[in-house]
Amino acid sequence: MQRSRRTALRIALVAMGWLASAAFAQAPQLSPEVQAYVRVQAPKIVLMHVRVIDGTGAAPLDDRNVTIENGKIAAVDQGADLASAGGTTALDLRGYSVMPGIVGMHNHMFYIERPNLTAPGHYEQPVMIPEMAFTAPRLYLAAGVTTMRTTGSIEPYTDVNVKHDIDAGKLVGPHIDATGPYLEGGASYFVQMPHLKSPDDARQLVEYWADHGVTSFKAYMNITRAELKAAVEAAHQRGIKVTGHLCSVTYKEAAEAGIDDLEHGFFVNTQLDPDKKPDTCSQSQGSETLARMDAASAEGRDLIDTLVKHHVAITSTLPVFEGLLGGGRPPIRQAVLDAMTPEARHDYFLLREPRPAGSFRPKTDWNLLWKHDLELEHAFVAAGGLLVAGPDPTGAGDVLPGFGDQRGIELLVEGGFSPVEAIKIATLNGAIYLGREKQIGSIAAGKNADLVVVKGDPSKQVSDVENVEIVFKDGVAYDSKKLLDSIKGRYGQY
Ligand SMILES: [Zn+2]
Repeated sequence: MQRSRRTALRIALVAMGWLASAAFAQAPQLSPEVQAYVRVQAPKIVLMHVRVIDGTGAAPLDDRNVTIENGKIAAVDQGADLASAGGTTALDLRGYSVMPGIVGMHNHMFYIERPNLTAPGHYEQPVMIPEMAFTAPRLYLAAGVTTMRTTGSIEPYTDVNVKHDIDAGKLVGPHIDATGPYLEGGASYFVQMPHLKSPDDARQLVEYWADHGVTSFKAYMNITRAELKAAVEAAHQRGIKVTGHLCSVTYKEAAEAGIDDLEHGFFVNTQLDPDKKPDTCSQSQGSETLARMDAASAEGRDLIDTLVKHHVAITSTLPVFEGLLGGGRPPIRQAVLDAMTPEARHDYFLLREPRPAGSFRPKTDWNLLWKHDLELEHAFVAAGGLLVAGPDPTGAGDVLPGFGDQRGIELLVEGGFSPVEAIKIATLNGAIYLGREKQIGSIAAGKNADLVVVKGDPSKQVSDVENVEIVFKDGVAYDSKKLLDSIKGRYGQY
């Protein structure tokens, strides 16, 4: 009797183990290095008495129990008291909110190094772009980014391999949509990017990298219309999307060429730049156009109409432009400084100093551009366009992975979106763009448990998105503070 009971128990345990491993098929065995950052691991985790901001733009739901089982959200119920027992861990989260994991759509894994930077903002060429394969994935996950696009890669082999190692449980980090090498033309400012010579060259690059694990592409500032068209066709043949930070090609030309997404809101459309020539980047890189184009103008309305008709998404990247407004922007955040190497911190403060007149795009009134861009982003959303978000680290060294994603949500709110709308733009809209909205991007039973637990209530005070404590990815609870501690003083180095 005793014996057979034991045997039965053993069979039951083996069966449970098998079920658990079958259910976790998508979430593999985590290496000890990754395990070190896991805060809670249990077959069933219940977030008790938490406020749910579900990512759809709906009003928040107070006092809910969110049950996570086998990597998925099993249920969202009225708040109730539960005791941790057996395979269930219950967390009392009164005073906390849970929102979907951020889907960062303009997120890099590199840092921009300005050699021999001096006080007035002078530096020597070539600008170098070291890969942050250690710090960036940890910064993203710590900040609540559970899925990200690399949006132009300098080391595509690294990005693809890091993605695979994260998916295999060997490295800690978010889910990654790895973007191929920049599709850049010959007149490039960056020595580490491909310099395309022809449409055929563009097609070959797309095909090679699609064969090597890249899942998206990004066109850059000096590509020609013919090269862009060839790249888009080759990518679409493989079901891969193309975005662009453009200059030589206008937004309307890119829409006609079949592009799927345009980076930097409306800041880099060049159609009204006075010196614009076909296939050539203009001097102001789009500032002249945005200064002339508000949402009510005939050109603005026509552009939005064209983008919506062609199903072109727009990526809002407010954090990368914020520093150009001056006035002590962005606010200094200790956690951001703590993440950087002493050298990166030094450059960060040099780049914050007011520039002498005429040193950078002299005729540009950034406050006017900021206003016009936000008007156009609102009009685009009102017209049914898909607005997604990403911070574009690093800008002037003041936009960091993860922290920048949080800042992007805050700036969308400053720009007139409600907090729940801004969170939707940063979560569900990105999931929709990636075609993954059935799995991620909002909080509902059956979806992947990619969730961020923050102290406070970002639906009332949006800066509470910075108070991240636990980040769930596929139901595994990562400790935000431990992740940040592990990269302290290293961002800018590796
Ligand atoms: Zn970028």
